[in-house]
Amino acid sequence: MARNTGADCRQCRREKCKLFLKGERCYSDKCALTKRAKVPGVHADSRKKITEYGLQLREKQKTKRIYGLQEKQFHAYYEEAERMKGITGSNMLILLEKRLDNVVYRMGIGVSRSQARQFVNHGLIAVNGKRVTIPSYQIKVGDVVSIRENKRELPLFVELKQAKKAANLPKWLDFEPSELAGKVLAQPTREDIDMNISEHMIVELYSK
Ligand code: SF4
Repeated sequence: MARNTGADCRQCRREKCKLFLKGERCYSDKCALTKRAKVPGVHADSRKKITEYGLQLREKQKTKRIYGLQEKQFHAYYEEAERMKGITGSNMLILLEKRLDNVVYRMGIGVSRSQARQFVNHGLIAVNGKRVTIPSYQIKVGDVVSIRENKRELPLFVELKQAKKAANLPKWLDFEPSELAGKVLAQPTREDIDMNISEHMIVELYSK
């Protein structure tokens, strides 16, 4: 699958906000955005005033980068959201949140969405006891997401097993480190998605 291979921190600097792409580093003083907030590029400072279209484009790029998706995949979420009842922008974010790689990240199994995606791709994750290797797999209420039995001795997971339950778990998810398993308790709502995203701008951009 195609993926964005641009330096993670450069993407944050481009979007002028933290996208949390590098795990613990993002919460430390080593965060590149804390040290150097300048937009990358020689002519970055000479760019003209940003237009409404430009703002919408940046919002879409930012959201795409947060979830680590390419344009085609991201646009497909918009199309699906548009076909659903309710508010298209909220529907789109909810569909993105319900991706398996995002759930693995939100449960604290992976320190970043890219690490969580690797875990899924490499067959380390099971849903309801069955191996699932599709990062875009949409989880459902009641699904149990776990580390596969034969992968639990990997040092990474031995460490996770000894960790305390994360205090920042979203309320629609549960994860018990001692069991290396968690459950989807409810359907996420827009209010559960605590990221600074103006999804209406993305909808405006795509609906032009
Ligand atoms: Fe972004 Fe994390 Fe790099 Fe900071 S450390 S610039 S939040 S990817």
